[in-house]
Amino acid sequence: MSINLELPKKLHVTIDQAHQAAAEIFRPISRKYDLREHDYPVELDTLASLYDGLAETGQAGAGADGGRSQKKAKPEGEGAVVNGGNMQSVLNVMETSWGDVGLMLSIPYQGLGNSAIAAVATDEQLERFGKVWAAMAITEPSFGSDSAAVSTTATLDGDEYVINGEKIFVTAGSRATHIVVWATVDKSLGRAAIKSFVVPRDHPGVEVVRLEHKLGIRVSDTAVIRFDNCRIPKDNLLGSPEVDTKKGFGGVMQTFDNTRPLVAGMAVGVARAALEELRRVLDEAGIEVDYDRPAADQHAAAAEFIRMESDFEAAYLLTMRAAWMADNKQPNSTEASMSKAKAGRVVNDITNKVVELLGTFGYSERLLVEKWARDAKILDIFEGTQQIQNLIIARRVLNKSSAELK
Ligand SMILES: Cc1cc2nc3c(=O)[nH]c(=O)nc-3n(C[C@H](O)[C@H](O)[C@H](O)COP(=O)(O)OP(=O)(O)OC[C@H]3O[C@@H](n4cnc5c(N)ncnc54)[C@H](O)[C@@H]3O)c2cc1C
Repeated sequence: MSINLELPKKLHVTIDQAHQAAAEIFRPISRKYDLREHDYPVELDTLASLYDGLAETGQAGAGADGGRSQKKAKPEGEGAVVNGGNMQSVLNVMETSWGDVGLMLSIPYQGLGNSAIAAVATDEQLERFGKVWAAMAITEPSFGSDSAAVSTTATLDGDEYVINGEKIFVTAGSRATHIVVWATVDKSLGRAAIKSFVVPRDHPGVEVVRLEHKLGIRVSDTAVIRFDNCRIPKDNLLGSPEVDTKKGFGGVMQTFDNTRPLVAGMAVGVARAALEELRRVLDEAGIEVDYDRPAADQHAAAAEFIRMESDFEAAYLLTMRAAWMADNKQPNSTEASMSKAKAGRVVNDITNKVVELLGTFGYSERLLVEKWARDAKILDIFEGTQQIQNLIIARRVLNKSSAELK
């Protein structure tokens, strides 16, 4: 069977709407908020009402409806395939990140926590948390890559869990209405006891301690959040409360199967923005990009453009595959990591190369290219660094456990 790489019509509606928001709302304010770190972009309020409307009609990406569309896709009948909420979210993210990835990370209801909810929540919880804007809090002062080292605790007391601990580098941590917090219900039981909990941000016992100053995505608020005897209803634990030591880390880790393709989508969006800018400048300079001639036989900048464009295509297709598999309920952990590893590498290569090829212009604030190069770095770090993705892929390909290959 041949592969049909054409997107269905309904997804073009998603792309067009997201592109319009990116071009008309994000791009014009991109530099302004890069220079005014921590200012709240009031323009996002307009976008929030737009997404509310889209969520009502089912046309928005997964985040806009609290993750319900990411969860609901089910193939109809034998052999049917689905292009559902995950695909829609990834396309949405690609377009909006083309506009500005920091602003994209600040879009209400589009938090990484929303995808975490979609990945792990029961149907009842999906209904309850369908209208929240959720950030995701895994990282702690004592660890980043090693997610099994969670030390924040959730202690059952009657009908409530009591959460204690500190989370750092929480994207949208001061703006989101809710936070998905990873905490252990029993440290002695190891990684199987790590569960995720939905916590309202303005709940007693939750304190946003400070915001970070950063290299890139400066418009995005990155918060340190402290939980001090924060009591939440016990059914805010996402998924099953059962601690299955045989199953290990499986439950919460499913979150990454949904979120890594999204981060890959962000990288694809930023990479495309940089490539388009390069193409524009090459066109203006009268440098032709000729796909019929070998690289050695044309302008060096054109040859670089073609090399980067092919890398970009590979990243795009890997990302689409990972999202498609999630929609079709196929295990996609390996492909999710592959998409993120490739796209994270590609966006850093492309944005830095474009800065280089555009010379002083590229380095100056006259264009957005230098900003995209700064923004790109985080896309190869959060939701698992480049090295961690490679490690996961290697384990899967070589059939090794995490104890065997560290
Ligand atoms: C702007 C920003 C936003 C963020 N947003 C969030 C968020 O919303 N929620 C959240 O929970 N976290 C968030 N993070 C945290 C992010 O996920 C972590 O920074 C990331 O997981 C890496 O952890 P670390 O910084 O502690 O690095 P470390 O784990 O200390 O790693 C340092 C270096 O060592 C490498 N390394 C580590 N282990 C291995 C290994 N076994 N083999 C080879 N190399 C290895 C890493 O790849 C990295 O290069 C954010 C971070 C930033 C900077």
